[in-house]
Parts: sequence; C-alpha cells; structure tokens
Amino acid sequence: MRMDKAQRYYLQRMGIDVYLERDAVSVQPVPVVAVDKHVTADTEAAWEVLRNEVAQCIKCELHKSRTQTVFGVGNQQANWLIIGEAPGAEEDRQGEPFVGRAGKLLNAMLQAVGLQRDEVYIANILKCRPPNNRDPRPDEVSACRNYLRRQIDLIQPHIILAVGRVAAQNLLQTETPIGRMRGQRYSYADTGIPVVVTYHPAYLLRSPREKRKAWQDLQLAMQIYKESL
Ligand code: SF4
Repeated sequence: MRMDKAQRYYLQRMGIDVYLERDAVSVQPVPVVAVDKHVTADTEAAWEVLRNEVAQCIKCELHKSRTQTVFGVGNQQANWLIIGEAPGAEEDRQGEPFVGRAGKLLNAMLQAVGLQRDEVYIANILKCRPPNNRDPRPDEVSACRNYLRRQIDLIQPHIILAVGRVAAQNLLQTETPIGRMRGQRYSYADTGIPVVVTYHPAYLLRSPREKRKAWQDLQLAMQIYKESL
C-alpha cells in the first residue's frame, strides 16, 4: 500500500527512512475528535474544578520546586489521549506538556498517522516537574493519580497512547520493561479503553534507530482506533 506525500513528509520529519513504505498503512482521514460527545455545563464545570485543584495542589513534595503545574493540553473531546511521564524543564517553564525537541518529534509522530496536535489531548502521569528530571516516585504518582483518572473520565478517549516506560508502567500497573510491552493491546484500569505503548520521543532522539518501532506502534494504535469507530 503506497504512502501519500504528506505521510512520507512526516515520516521524514520523524527521521524515518522511506524504505519503511512497505510496512505502512494508508492514512485515510478518520474522525479524531468526537463532535457528538456530550458536552454539558456540568462537564465544563468539572474541567474547571479539576484545573483549579491541580493548579493549587500541594499533595506531594513536587509543589515546592515547580514553576507551575502542567495540567494537560488539547481537545477535551479528543478520541486520542497521549500520556507521558512528567513535565521537564521546558514544560515546567511553559506550562504545557511535550514542548521543545521531544514535543516536535511527538507532533511529527502524530502527524505521520494523520493526527494533528490540537486534535488529541496530551497529559502526563505527574502534573509537576521532578527535580533534575529524575523518575517520579511511587508516592508522587499515587498522589497525582486521581487527577489523570478524572481527565480520562471527562475525555472518554477511544484510545490511549502511553508514551515512555514511566507512563506505560504506571498506567498499566506493571514493571514489565517497555520493550516487552510494545506491540500489544492493553486496557486502562476498569474502563476498557485500549492502551498502546510506545517509546518516549526524548528516548527516540537519543536512539533514532528505535523510531521504526515507534512507527509500528503508532500504526497499531491507529488500527485499534479505527476498529473502535
Ligand atoms: S505532582 Fe500532582 S500530586 Fe504532586 S503536587 Fe503536583 S499536582 Fe499535586
């Protein structure tokens, strides 16, 4: 199946050789934002309450060193939810997840399967930056978990893409190495929402040879998503 020009362009931006063409699925436009999701005044109010709670949160030590909380960004009616680990230095400064070089690569990864950044919702396991980009601690993840759960309940995505080891292991409550979690369909908690695991773009910037696997993960996620429509 041949790629179209746009897909080829975004794969090149991801840094993936076009020899992967033989593996590609066609990128047909699919609805990625649910216009029919029921948005009520209650839903809007629930988002507002949640946003304010997170902005003022002091439930773990990370509130002491943050510049600001990083709540999440994107379309609240998105069918795709992208979940990363925690804000880094740039995210902490800008108040938005996945900015900087890793954010640009994530955008290219999404575009390679026909998704625009503003059509998905992007959030993290933690809303505050761990100092020196260390891994989140279990007590921090546990303190922050309910915020993400409430975001998921409000968005009701068709699919969750868990980006990176920390996101995948915490979402799926496992210690399985990320390399063994790829290529499979999981479900998030008791919701039945499918989860697909892929590498973090920051890791892919350090290990560009793994981009091919990330591309395969994205195609798997798109296939599962299409089945959900
Ligand atoms: S990381 Fe989460 S639980 Fe900890 S202070 Fe920030 S918002 Fe609160």
